[in-house]
Amino acid sequence: MLAISKFKHIPHNRLSLGSEEKCAAERVLTSGWIAQGVEVENFEDEFCDFLGIPRGLAVAVSSGTAALYLALLSLEANDKTVAMPAYTCTALRNATAMAGGYEQFIDSSFDTPNMRLSQIHSSSSEITIIPHMYGIPQAILATSSFVIEDCAQSLGATVNDEPVGLQGDIGIFSFYATKLITSGGQGGMIVTTSPSIIEFLKDYRTFDQKYDGKRRFNFQMTDIQAAIGRVQLRKLPAFLKRRAEIYDRYKEAQLPLLDSKAEGIVPVRYRAMLRTTKQKEILLALDKVNVKATIPLQSHELLGAIEQFPVAFQWTQNIVSLPIYPTLSDEDVERITAAVLSCL
Ligand SMILES: *Cc1c(COP(=O)(O)O)cnc(C)c1O
Repeated sequence: MLAISKFKHIPHNRLSLGSEEKCAAERVLTSGWIAQGVEVENFEDEFCDFLGIPRGLAVAVSSGTAALYLALLSLEANDKTVAMPAYTCTALRNATAMAGGYEQFIDSSFDTPNMRLSQIHSSSSEITIIPHMYGIPQAILATSSFVIEDCAQSLGATVNDEPVGLQGDIGIFSFYATKLITSGGQGGMIVTTSPSIIEFLKDYRTFDQKYDGKRRFNFQMTDIQAAIGRVQLRKLPAFLKRRAEIYDRYKEAQLPLLDSKAEGIVPVRYRAMLRTTKQKEILLALDKVNVKATIPLQSHELLGAIEQFPVAFQWTQNIVSLPIYPTLSDEDVERITAAVLSCL
């Protein structure tokens, strides 16, 4: 039986979809063309505008994982070593395995759960996937390996006044339902300044009516998805502003939140990570007031063996993810804050 709470449930994530997205989807539904078409092209162009790069340098695909896989394929990852953090989304390992690469895991930094970049230099990897975890980006210094910058959690963040996605050879983004914006549940984007990679990607995802016998696969985004994604991209600045307001409220209430103090780093508040060794108590206290918080990555979810990644293991033990999304009200924030403060 479900316990009845006097508090309205506050989920960990909530969609921010409105009548504009509904109209956009409807427009495509009645247009007579719903597969990849002009909406996808426009989404790609507007994504380039958002990043401040020339149009034509973005390719929309079906998911962030597909974006990672295609990025790896375009760098010819087959039989190459691919470095990635032990502490991250399993999509990185899955995409690497699909592309025929050999995974090599790297431990986390001490000050953020991001990958410890100094270890890439001493590794022999030929390709490195660098995710900016929880909206907190890091500066990527030149390495001898190819770099895929994974911005699935950090769209809109900047490093030294440059938007993330352009620091490596290829940048990838996800528009899954719980990310900063969504293209109707699934979707991804790849950006690169390399015209030959763009050409490879656009050719690879368009398999029909080609007679050269080359291997291709359907990784296309639909026009319905792109139309929703375009609306969400226009709303992104407002989304980020509201997320930052909520983050600041938590901070003002003295909640010890994860942040970056590194110079030139401007995060987006994709996640509000409470730094605490009392994970269970916090989750329980929030549950009592009908709030869902989570441990975003637990020790059994680390990509490598726990013993080899002591810092990554520590990150599985000392953070709790609090709700933070544009539709969270000030009263919601107060209820969450009070419950957390009661445990600190
Ligand atoms: C969500 C996510 C992905 C995968 O994106 P999907 O669109 O869900 O396939 C990849 N990397 C990171 C860091 C993510 O958070």
